[in-house]
Amino acid sequence: MIKKQVRTRFAPSPTGYLHVGGLEIMIFAYIFAKQNKGEFLLRIEDTDKKRELPGAKEALLQTIANMGFVYDEGPILKNGKIETKGKFGPYIQSERLDIYQKYVRELINNGHAYYCFCTPERLDTMRGEQQKNNQPPKYDRTCRNLTAQEIQANLDTKVPYVIRMKIPDNETVTFNDLIKGDISFNSNDIDDQVLLKSDGYPTYHLAVVVDDHLMQISHVIRGDDWLSSTPKHLLLYKYFDWKIPYFAHLSLLLNTDRTKLSKRKGDVAVEDFLQKGYLKEALINFIATIGWNEEAGNEQEIYSLEDLIKKFDITRLSKSGAIFNLEKLDWINSHYIRAKTVKELTGLCLPYLKQVKPDITQNLAEKVVAIEQERLKKLEDINQNTNFLINDEITYQPELLVWKKSTLSQTKENLGKLIIFIQDLKNSDYKTAKGLEEKVITWIKENNYGVGDMLWPMRVALSGQQNSPSPFEIAWVIGKETTVKRISMAISNLKSS
Ligand code: GLU
Repeated sequence: MIKKQVRTRFAPSPTGYLHVGGLEIMIFAYIFAKQNKGEFLLRIEDTDKKRELPGAKEALLQTIANMGFVYDEGPILKNGKIETKGKFGPYIQSERLDIYQKYVRELINNGHAYYCFCTPERLDTMRGEQQKNNQPPKYDRTCRNLTAQEIQANLDTKVPYVIRMKIPDNETVTFNDLIKGDISFNSNDIDDQVLLKSDGYPTYHLAVVVDDHLMQISHVIRGDDWLSSTPKHLLLYKYFDWKIPYFAHLSLLLNTDRTKLSKRKGDVAVEDFLQKGYLKEALINFIATIGWNEEAGNEQEIYSLEDLIKKFDITRLSKSGAIFNLEKLDWINSHYIRAKTVKELTGLCLPYLKQVKPDITQNLAEKVVAIEQERLKKLEDINQNTNFLINDEITYQPELLVWKKSTLSQTKENLGKLIIFIQDLKNSDYKTAKGLEEKVITWIKENNYGVGDMLWPMRVALSGQQNSPSPFEIAWVIGKETTVKRISMAISNLKSS
């Protein structure tokens, strides 16, 4: 049982988009905080000025908001501007530079960090040598032994410098990871990490430790690509004499062949998934259940966020990587799509339908959605093969109208009978697709017509497609007038062929 106040954070760097792997970390950090009645906060780690893109922070915050996540503290977007929520701010690292300066000076004063005046050229040569001798890349500690006078002289003459961490020799750094168990590192394998860069910005390693401490983070939940950095962080906690948080390193998402998930934006950006019409609740459900399962043999696949908060157990997170299987995502997404009312789903599909028909009416949109709902894997599919429902003009080869062994002239004759029957129908017969179906089928039976001989040409006349929803569903959507118009168009197509 965790007794102290649980505070977790999601600390993305603004790279231009939110990676699905980042979403996974956010989901679990959020769920863990909420199930322990704790707080979840967002911090933006933008200390890498070279990688900074204009507008990236705002885009990141927008995606997090679109995913429906509300954090207790952090930078929030209000009318396009970033504001701060919470009393531990600022929550954007580039606005905290003086804080890092203060702490790095403290490390220097206590003998845990040192000035390094090596030029980039010298470091390059050193690395080249190490490579040649098959040695791991590590700073050779030249500046660790400078005298106080040498340092002062360099500072006085404004020689550019970085500040490095003094890593001790022959020490074992150990911690217990909540997911991966006991982990040990030998300090001889750790580089004298740069903590402050020559531009005065901290590196991730300094900033993350200072911020996690000052923001009172109890549990650091992050990707296991940071696992090898954790011993450096543990040493920093020791040097500052700060309480060490719990660590939980999540395995990264994998492709179905267990290779690392690509970094190609189009395949992994959360905003692109939302854009295609994956619902936020489906994305959360999918990501949470590929990385975690309730108990061995449990087959439950559908979990709401509330459900996850109740049942989640951090120790049952995957140790070996979750498989990002798009087929499963499609399956989960269609489940959530089917669970919507037609009205709700129409609201969600309308922006997509408007791309095809900007002036589409609510009534038409609702009907299209009603007959497509069962088939949709994602919202953008609403525009696949539905053009004949939405737009007036359809084109097809007249031969497509002919059912199996029937002929062009027989088909023309059948459609001639059908159009007379349809014209005589009352508007009330058009109220539901089911009612219309009953009328037409009864008429076919009473007259001993072949079902396929009548319904195949009817369906093709209305859709122009080899495969489509039933003729009754289509007729119901397009209405009596268009139904009659299309059948008569089919008859004239057959005449001229
Ligand atoms: N800024 C780091 C990232 O984007 C966060 C690592 C951490 O959570 O400590 O991966």
